[in-house]
Parts: sequence; C-alpha cells; structure tokens
Amino acid sequence: MQHIIDRFVSYVTIDTESDPNSNTTPSTKKQFDLANKLVDELKAIGMTEVTIDKNGYVMATLPANVKEKVPVIGFVSHYDTTPDFTGKNVKPQIVKNYDGGDIVLNKKQNIVLSPKYFKDMLLYKGQTLITTDGTTLLGADDKAGITEIVTAMEYLVKHPEIKHGKIRVGFTPDEEIGRGAHHFDVKKFGADWAYTMDGSQIGELEYENFNAAGAKITCRGKSVHPGYAKGKMINSMLIANDFINHLPAGEIPQETKGYEGFFHVTGLSGSIEETTVEMIIRDHNAKKFKERKELIGKIAKKINKKFAKQFGADIVEIEVKDQYYNMKEKVKPVFHIVEIAEEAMKQLGIKPIIKPIRGGTDGCQLSYKGLPCPNIFAGGHNFHGKYEYVPVESMVKATEVIVKIAELTALPNYGLKK
Ligand SMILES: [Zn+2]
Repeated sequence: MQHIIDRFVSYVTIDTESDPNSNTTPSTKKQFDLANKLVDELKAIGMTEVTIDKNGYVMATLPANVKEKVPVIGFVSHYDTTPDFTGKNVKPQIVKNYDGGDIVLNKKQNIVLSPKYFKDMLLYKGQTLITTDGTTLLGADDKAGITEIVTAMEYLVKHPEIKHGKIRVGFTPDEEIGRGAHHFDVKKFGADWAYTMDGSQIGELEYENFNAAGAKITCRGKSVHPGYAKGKMINSMLIANDFINHLPAGEIPQETKGYEGFFHVTGLSGSIEETTVEMIIRDHNAKKFKERKELIGKIAKKINKKFAKQFGADIVEIEVKDQYYNMKEKVKPVFHIVEIAEEAMKQLGIKPIIKPIRGGTDGCQLSYKGLPCPNIFAGGHNFHGKYEYVPVESMVKATEVIVKIAELTALPNYGLKK
C-alpha cells in the first residue's frame, strides 16, 4: 500500500494545471514535467513501445503473454488538473485508519473536511485517506487513475503467470479543458476498446453520458434617450430576459438528476444595444436532445416575430454548436466491454455502480473516434477543489480491477457466462 501512496504523491506534487485560454497542446508547458516522468517510469517498469508525441500524449505497450489471438485493450487517464482550483504546491496529508470524524485540513485557516457535509467519507471508515492541506486541490482527478494503471502494469510485468493479451496505456493532457481526446491518435493506440480510469466512488462504471451542445443567443436592441424612449427604445437585456423566461421551468442543473436533461445559462452580459446569453444544453436521450435544440430556435422565432415590425430585422440570433454525444451509441454494439468490467468488479467483491454520467468524459470523444471507451472509478471524491480526497484502498481496488479485466479478456468468451 505504501508503494501506491508513494507513487500517487510523486504525481500530485507535480503541478499540471491546464489552461483554457491557451491554444497550444498541452495547454501548459508544465504538463510535460509529469508526462516525461511517466515515460521514464513506464520504461523502468518494463513496458515497451513507450512514446510521447509533441502534444504530450504518452502511450506504452504491455505485450501479450498468450499465443492465441486476444483483443487489444487499453487504459486511459489524464494527467492535467482543472484550472478551477490551484494545483500548485500540493501537500498531500495521509490520514491512516480514518475514524469517521472531521479531518482538519488546515488549522490556521479553519478548513475542515467533515462527513457532516461530505457523507461519502463514512464509506471509508478504517481506511487510509489522502487529503489536501486545504490550500490546493489534490489531483486525484486523474492522477489516481494514472497511479492505478501504472501500478497494474507493473504488477502484470512481475506476474507473468497471469495471462493477458496486448495492453496499451495512454495518458493525455488537457482533459479538464475538454481537449483530452482532441489529439489522441486512436489508430496509433491500436486497441479494440479501452477504459478511462476517471470515475469517482469505488464501483462506478459508466457508459452513458450526455449529448451536449453550446448555444450563444445574441439579442439586439435600440438605445434612445430614456426620457424620449416611449415606443422607440428596445432594451436588449429585457429581450434576453424574455428569452430565458421562455425556457421550461425547472429544467436546470440544480433541479435535475439521473436521466433528466437541462438548459443551463452559463453567461449573460449586455447593454441596451446588445446582450448575449451563453447556454449549454444537455440530454442523454438523442431525440430529446434534438428537441431541446429545436426549442431554442422556436423561442427565437417567436420573439423575432413579436419585434419584426418595430426592429425591422431578426432581433434574436442563435448559434447552436454540438459539443459531444452519448457514448452509449458506440458502446451498445460491443456491450461485452461493459460486462467484462462489471464481472471483474464482482469477482473482486466490488459492487458495480452503473449510472449515467451527467457530463462527458474523454472516453465519449474517443468512442466517437472509433475507440469504445467506458469509464471506471479511480476512487477520488470532491474533485476540483480543496476538499478532494481519495481512499488508498479504492486505488488498490481499481488497480485490481485493471488486472482482472486484462485477465478476463484473455479467457474464452471473456470469462463471461452464457
Ligand atoms: Zn478527470
């Protein structure tokens, strides 16, 4: 267990924060610090075909140790951390034999990680938790995933009696800014399917995510001296307000869960002459997703009609762009890849928690690039902030899941019944 802790700490203490305002890949140069270290480490544990490309994508191979033809599988994680919270000078705190009480992260600043607020903590009573010191994020998202993949590969190298096919590993930059899969060379990776190790709680297994679009609504107005405005002025901020009011009430992130989709206003800025509304649209169901996008158009049309005479042109203009799609479409035809992961967990005494992701993963982009790629827990909680923590036992279990998936894939019918 100390081995996995040491490895994890060696990764999270390297700052790899990504930057959405940069156009380079990786978006920040410092991400290479960890990427290069991973290259050295993969070579040191005995992996072959270890490569890093100019964009920072790290790939490596564990060759098959069976003669028969077995599918090539892959495991993928991202090494950047979110720009939402600082990842500089991470000082991990190790809490052994967690007693179920409050954990003081930072005495001076009175920052406490409490199960009164974060009830999930109670799942890990008696375990070893790694937390922050309250001033940074931890980076378990997704350095826990990397730790697990490297540790599993090291284990398989040392245990040739465990039979497996060819395994590929891939570590990507810039996932947190939505670009993790952008320069991922699926052909070079050459796997039949893969898993991202990027979920949260132990047992999580995900193969459904949102269909996603972004919309920009530009509302125009006419500025006139307010004292002489009657019948003349059009205030674009009020047009925007009208637009938002036309959206179905309650279909917003804070009132939806499970398979319920939403509209989410993410930005609003304006003056009398022009106001823009930025919005994201999410739905797991492809038909409902399409209807949501159509609704945006219908609302615009309605308001445009109302102001056609007074404004003389379309007062509302919309721009809707698809961002990503539900990977379910790509995973369903090869559903054994989910069943293998489920079976692996069951054999290890882990209860699979299968639920739709209310977001996207690198795996959904990879799935649409031809690499079906469900998501498996990496173990961490409270991502993207100072309350982030990871139970070491969950990282150990995730490592075992990787090894077990490798083992099952080499069995007739993947070790699945029927
Ligand atoms: Zn992540």
